[in-house]
Amino acid sequence: MSTKRDYYEILGVAKSASQDEIKKAYRKVAMQFHPDRNPNNKEAEEKFKEAAEAYEVLSDADKRAQYDRFGHAGMNGGRGGFGGGGMNMEDIFSNFGDIFGNDDIFGSFFGGGGRGGGGGRRGRGTRGSNLRVKIRLTYEEIAKGANKKIKVKKYVPCQHCGGLGAKDKNAFQTCNTCGGSGQVRKVTQTFLGQMQTVTTCPTCHGEGQIITSKCGHCKGEGRMYGEEMVSIDIPAGVQEGMQLSMSGKGNAGERGGAPGDLLILIEEEPHPELQRDGLNVAYDLHISFPDAVYGTQVEVPTIDGKAKIKIPAGTQSGKIFRLKGKGFPSVNSYEKGDQLIHVNVWTPQHVSADEKAMLDKLQTSDNFKPNPEKSEKGFFEKVRDIFS
Ligand SMILES: [Zn+2]
Ligand SMILES: [Zn+2]
Repeated sequence: MSTKRDYYEILGVAKSASQDEIKKAYRKVAMQFHPDRNPNNKEAEEKFKEAAEAYEVLSDADKRAQYDRFGHAGMNGGRGGFGGGGMNMEDIFSNFGDIFGNDDIFGSFFGGGGRGGGGGRRGRGTRGSNLRVKIRLTYEEIAKGANKKIKVKKYVPCQHCGGLGAKDKNAFQTCNTCGGSGQVRKVTQTFLGQMQTVTTCPTCHGEGQIITSKCGHCKGEGRMYGEEMVSIDIPAGVQEGMQLSMSGKGNAGERGGAPGDLLILIEEEPHPELQRDGLNVAYDLHISFPDAVYGTQVEVPTIDGKAKIKIPAGTQSGKIFRLKGKGFPSVNSYEKGDQLIHVNVWTPQHVSADEKAMLDKLQTSDNFKPNPEKSEKGFFEKVRDIFS
């Protein structure tokens, strides 16, 4: 034992080093001597193991205090003593999750496989799938925002086993294939040398344990097909084709796995009189010829009840009135659209003999001859007004 090097020396840190400094130092040394980078190098492997052992002790407050007091001698007696053969590679790799997390170097280091697929370390069950539902909304609902309660048919956690899929708490057993880590390692030869890949354990699907006695109700799946009332809050201003997502409201996972999401596809119910155009709402107003001449007051539908508007005397067909702020709210800003009212002067399709006589008279009158220069604005000017 006296030939053992000092743990602080191995990691190259001071005796007063903080946990953070120790962790950083270990990362550095482990990267330097990692077997993937030093294939068939016995010396590097020893250094790698040495560093792991040093870290194992110095990262644990109790073990570190013991080591500080008694040196290596203090380390021999304890459970899983480090004195003898040191740590095996399996132990070292299984600690990496804590040191390197899911981030940086090791993702690429292990080449492709990463740590257990979905970025997770060993976790219970498999995640449920996402569900998609369509929700149809009227213009009024879109304008104000809406709360919809809908019955969603989906997988729900089994109530008999609490979603675990097992008969009871004791019906679990550590997976023999992976020893409970949920992952298996494969060493392959590549032109770069030995590469280690980590994949999800095929026996337990990454769960680290297997069920010895399944719940009879869900046959071990931990979920059953059923339905749930879901209350969906839809913000004002959504549009046809938009997709909202409610986290965790999709299918329940298997054996306690996280549920999927509920994706809500928005559909617009067409309005009998109004037409949406982005944030704006268009409305076609038809007025009679006498009303256009004399002016009048009309009631028009809006997405928020009815509105009264005044049609001034002498209004031309094609005139557009704007009701400011009567359009849709924007879903992600305070912006609001307008309602645009397109005036159409109704031209009679049939006239009686009396009416014909009146029209014959009007036809020769100067006031009835078109004279766009004299009217307030031409068509193109109006269009420019709308879009400016
Ligand atoms: Zn396994
Ligand atoms: Zn069950």
